[in-house]
Amino acid sequence: MVGKNRLDDGIFRNFLISNGLFIDREALRPSYVPDFLPHREQEITTLASIWAPALRGESPSNVFIYGKTGTGKTAVVKFVGKELVGKGKETGVKISFIYINCEIVDTQYRLLQNITNHFINDWSERVPFTGWPTDEVFSKFKKIIDKSNTIVLVVLDEIDRLKGDEALYNLSRINSDLENAKLSLVGISNNLRFTDFLDPRVKSSLGEENLVFVPYDTDQLRDILNQRVGIALKQDSIEDEAVTLCANIAAQEHGDARRALDLLRMAAEIAERNGSQKISQQDVLNGLDRIEQDRVTKVVRSLPTQSKIILFSILSLENLNEKHNLKSIVTTGEVYEVYKGLCKKNGLVTLTQRRVADLISEMDMLGIITARVISKGRYGRTREIKSSLTSSEIINILKQEEVFRNLKINKVYGQTQII
Ligand code: ADP
Ligand code: MG
Repeated sequence: MVGKNRLDDGIFRNFLISNGLFIDREALRPSYVPDFLPHREQEITTLASIWAPALRGESPSNVFIYGKTGTGKTAVVKFVGKELVGKGKETGVKISFIYINCEIVDTQYRLLQNITNHFINDWSERVPFTGWPTDEVFSKFKKIIDKSNTIVLVVLDEIDRLKGDEALYNLSRINSDLENAKLSLVGISNNLRFTDFLDPRVKSSLGEENLVFVPYDTDQLRDILNQRVGIALKQDSIEDEAVTLCANIAAQEHGDARRALDLLRMAAEIAERNGSQKISQQDVLNGLDRIEQDRVTKVVRSLPTQSKIILFSILSLENLNEKHNLKSIVTTGEVYEVYKGLCKKNGLVTLTQRRVADLISEMDMLGIITARVISKGRYGRTREIKSSLTSSEIINILKQEEVFRNLKINKVYGQTQII
């Protein structure tokens, strides 16, 4: 008998027959690029006009694209690239569109390796991951590209992550060494100042054309969200106010469509898990909390040990204050005392108060705590510190690490004077 073990009879039953808000969950994922990008018509047309010469076999100008995260840079470039390659096929012009994310491919070697291998189907012929002298990769790169006899469009996304500008220097001059192929570059960055630090020749070459993507406003974000709602969710499964709230929150930050979509996806998942028929504003707010929690968790985990001990000191003090019904704000001096005690007990190096203050500022910038400088008149200045999440949540994250599991907080409290 199959009976009990069958999924639809077992523990998954409720989930399987749950209202299922989704038609296509993928459409809310960050990697999904829709067939139409609302409010980027102008950027799309401009980029298409810059790349159009490729369809006549001419090499397009290089382009530098700048805009804050989530303004649609990657989506637009991939979209226009796909159209261009399609059009090329139709008209019989060979165009190679190579998209590279420099966060992953971040050295000249890896970059040249990647582009070269794009044209090599036979695995045994490919440039290996490491090991070749750069000269050799470079000459193979030139040979292969030229042999391809195509217009090669190389997109360097997150171009500011590329180590050194030698690669850009070489790539931007390559056309003079090619006879049959032509290469054009597209650099994309969130950092407007990026080109300021480049070799002037590279800067002028990369910036032959410049495109700026401005942040979306609430109405634009709402349109983008509604388009996805139509693809991803069943009809009538979200309140209009919930979509508007996602758009509003993302617009208030910096008009980031990724942020708006993340919120929508999180809210939808929360609603679905609760068995709701319709995604509400409350689901969006809960989603916002979840995203913030996940972010803080990630940041806390990646802190260096010394910062973790400082953070632990802050939280311990907050907890202690709470127990004694005192204000939950603590000062740098108090934190330093607890921190010193913890380091001593655990045989760890103790940093100076100045350095500890610096690390506190760093954590402030990361958004794990807020530290506000206040003047104490002739007693100088101090900082009032407060953690972003509740202490117990962060302590739980820290407790996953060996060193914190064994810390005796109570003893440390004993050594600290709290007014
Ligand atoms: P950027 O590269 O500028 O950081 P992305 O192109 O990655 O931003 O966009 C972030 C997310 O928002 C992606 O999931 C993308 O598909 C979506 N997106 C951005 N702009 C639009 C738009 N105009 N219409 C539809 N989706 C968009
Ligand atoms: Mg991007």
